[in-house]
Amino acid sequence: MKSKKFKGDNRLIEDNCDCNACKGGYTRGVLYCMINCDSSGIGAQLITHHNVAHMLRLVRTFRKAIIEGNFQIVISKFLINHFGSIDKIPHWVTDALNAVNIKVIE
Ligand SMILES: [Zn+2]
Repeated sequence: MKSKKFKGDNRLIEDNCDCNACKGGYTRGVLYCMINCDSSGIGAQLITHHNVAHMLRLVRTFRKAIIEGNFQIVISKFLINHFGSIDKIPHWVTDALNAVNIKVIE
């Protein structure tokens, strides 16, 4: 949120997020201003709330996938979506997954 590209951005950090920042209507532009113009630290706290909420959702998704036996599919979709394509996934990520017998599949 320190980047100028967020200045005036009226979108929430993430749609359908129930963290204090998103639920409270703090847009990327407002958070940009809070981070760069306000030294209170509230902007950083709101972004931290969002990051923790995002990570919890991600871990819950992975946990559910492990329990349901489809982790390989879920992690593959996540990584391909996150990095843009299977070819762009860093080798250290695929190497780490391969070490525990999980192959990234398309
Ligand atoms: Zn959020």
